[in-house]
Amino acid sequence: MTTVTTEDLKSLFVRIAEAMARERDRLCELDGVIGDADHGIAMELGFTAAAKAVSELDSSTSEPTLVFNTAAKSFLNAVGASSGPLYATALMRAGAVAKGKSSLSDDDMVEIFSAFAKGIQDRGKAEVGEKTMVDAWAPAATACRAARDRGLLLADCLAAALETGEAGAEGTKNMIAAKGRSSRLGDRALGHIDPGAASAVVVIACFRDHFM
Ligand code: ADP
Ligand code: MG
Repeated sequence: MTTVTTEDLKSLFVRIAEAMARERDRLCELDGVIGDADHGIAMELGFTAAAKAVSELDSSTSEPTLVFNTAAKSFLNAVGASSGPLYATALMRAGAVAKGKSSLSDDDMVEIFSAFAKGIQDRGKAEVGEKTMVDAWAPAATACRAARDRGLLLADCLAAALETGEAGAEGTKNMIAAKGRSSRLGDRALGHIDPGAASAVVVIACFRDHFM
């Protein structure tokens, strides 16, 4: 069983920020095809700001909930694009699940992962099939929860989430967008992966790698 501490969460944010810096150009290119080409920049800015802000917290006095809430605020302040409020809400929901806990168990982390995904869905009001990041996050969270219900450890739950999230993101290629900027394109969006779904896979892969 894993025990996730404030220190673990701080380094998770560094990992995500580094991954977004590596993936920035690819994500901007994807957004360039069906959006306004800024998605990689938004995600890098958001997670870099979050990683910096949480790194300044004192690990000996800061509980996990404060890490998520601090990350949420800095992500929102750093990002003007639609991904700003979506990820800020996800992070706030994660913080709410962590409230009052000095460290997090496998069950807590699975709960946090689900709350994160649900936060994005509640904030953006997108359903699965509307060609957004929800097409990666929602099935990933369902798979994560199902794996935990089968008694798997956190690492295996996150591996299941990643595999399912990747398939979900890939599936956005065959969708017409019903939410966000690309919904104006109609069937011209067909054949192109949604940038938000692609970056969701990057975030989920960081979770998987971090708790392996
Ligand atoms: P913007 O569209 O403002 O430039 P970004 O480029 O950062 O914002 O993010 C675009 C991504 O946001 C899309 O690829 C899509 O996945 C996601 N998105 C847009 N609207 C919604 C929504 N209502 N719900 C969930 N995700 C959304
Ligand atoms: Mg954009």
